[in-house]
Amino acid sequence: MPDCLFCKIAEGTIPARLVHQDKDTVAFEDINPQAPFHVLVVPRRHVATLNDLTRDDDQVMGKLFRVAATLAKEKGCAESGYRVLLNTNAEGGQVVFHVHMHVMGGRQMAWPPG
Ligand code: AMP
Ligand code: ZN
Repeated sequence: MPDCLFCKIAEGTIPARLVHQDKDTVAFEDINPQAPFHVLVVPRRHVATLNDLTRDDDQVMGKLFRVAATLAKEKGCAESGYRVLLNTNAEGGQVVFHVHMHVMGGRQMAWPPG
């Protein structure tokens, strides 16, 4: 088991404001939200970056999108709109090396992102 913040949140040894959990995924509020609604959806299994995914992860990565959409609906963002993104490695802006999907809404998003 790597020394990984999001593994520890997923297993409950570091606290977070959980908004969803199932056997494959956990979702929690981002500690430094960039929008009124900002949660992270992660696979329970440790995968450092998108580059490290294997065929075994296909199903859970699909599930992350469905969890994201369910949470956006619950927050009332589904119709107004929201953004889903995954940062990968240094130039992608990744700072926590456990794959996580950002789900953000509740304000107008800009494009292109900075
Ligand atoms: P990234 O830059 O894509 O790696 O995003 C990492 C995200 O994790 C950032 O948006 C942080 O605010 C968030 N974060 C870091 N530590 C925690 C924590 N303990 N609980 C919740 N979110 C966190
Ligand atoms: Zn991890």
